[in-house]
Amino acid sequence: MAHRVYNFSAGPAVLPEKVLKQAADEMLDYQGCGMSVMELSHRSSVYQKIIDDAEAGLRKLMNIQANYKVLFLQGGASLQFLMIPMNLGKTKKADYVNTGEWATKAIKEARKFGMDVNVVASSESTTFNHFPKIDPAKVRKDADYLHITSNNTIYGTKCMDVPKVNIPIVADMSSNIMSEKFNVSDYGLIYAGAQKNIGPAGVVIVIIREDLLGLVQGLPTMLDYATHARAGSMFNTPATYGIYIAKLVFDHMLSLGGVEYFEKLNKEKAAIVYDAIDNSKLFKAHVKPGKDRSLMNIPFFTEKEELNKKFLKEAEAAGLVTLAGHRSVGGMRASVYNAMPIEGCKKLADFIKKFDRENS
Ligand SMILES: *Cc1c(COP(=O)(O)O)cnc(C)c1O
Repeated sequence: MAHRVYNFSAGPAVLPEKVLKQAADEMLDYQGCGMSVMELSHRSSVYQKIIDDAEAGLRKLMNIQANYKVLFLQGGASLQFLMIPMNLGKTKKADYVNTGEWATKAIKEARKFGMDVNVVASSESTTFNHFPKIDPAKVRKDADYLHITSNNTIYGTKCMDVPKVNIPIVADMSSNIMSEKFNVSDYGLIYAGAQKNIGPAGVVIVIIREDLLGLVQGLPTMLDYATHARAGSMFNTPATYGIYIAKLVFDHMLSLGGVEYFEKLNKEKAAIVYDAIDNSKLFKAHVKPGKDRSLMNIPFFTEKEELNKKFLKEAEAAGLVTLAGHRSVGGMRASVYNAMPIEGCKKLADFIKKFDRENS
């Protein structure tokens, strides 16, 4: 039996054990073709079926309408910080919501590209400890898009309510895609790096409404969404193995009941961890109770740095690993993505309670 820990990493993150086992079983001989998926030509019919099934699985899970393209790209969510202004920035004017480090990076990159960026809401002055209200009246009617980060991986806030605006909404869903139900049709473009809630690092998924393709002419080929949409994400060699693992994750999710199943489970899981923190003497969550608390990333801390260190050390010894907080927040962070079993959350909650009793 392999030694497995509960891995609370923010990303690359835990994957479903069933998926890893299936990948292991299929490693040397994928469905009788005598080779690994890693060795398959992306132009083969066997691989074409894998990427087609991956797309079909995602479409089913997220209920993606026919007027949206699904792209499997590379360069991470970070390259999207550039590709979005490049492709959608017809008038080089865009509005952004600043909810943390990733949003800040997206804003910086858009400005670097020469965009006129208007920050319509921000929680920066309170260390991003809540999701700021977005006043639709502040969103420019002639901006090319409004950019939101739906889940803030580092600070642990989220928001799935979109403001009523008449410009396309672009969402960075890297750390909460498929964690709860929402309407794809509320968005013009959704993107997500795979390594949080989908599969291995190296794949980024872009879901784009067709009318937003080809708005800007003369773009560098690889940076033009239209190139990848036309070529079915195979203009060049895609991240074949990562897309295969994503397909296995989508199949696994569908077999359990899809996003609905995971939303219910994620709410239970997060509540178990937040309750242990909220009911303790020593620990505090970075984000106050409320609907903007992330279901995926839970930053928490004690007032004393040496207690945080002790907690991390003892947690690791108990098989609860990668709990250190991001350097900008400190303390601890439990990332409890879709693939984190509820048992891991229960074990962490029990550990928090025990540590609280022993040290307060
Ligand atoms: C992890 C993350 C990113 C960066 O992803 P890369 O794939 O490393 O570029 C961007 N946005 C959010 C919300 C993230 O969680």
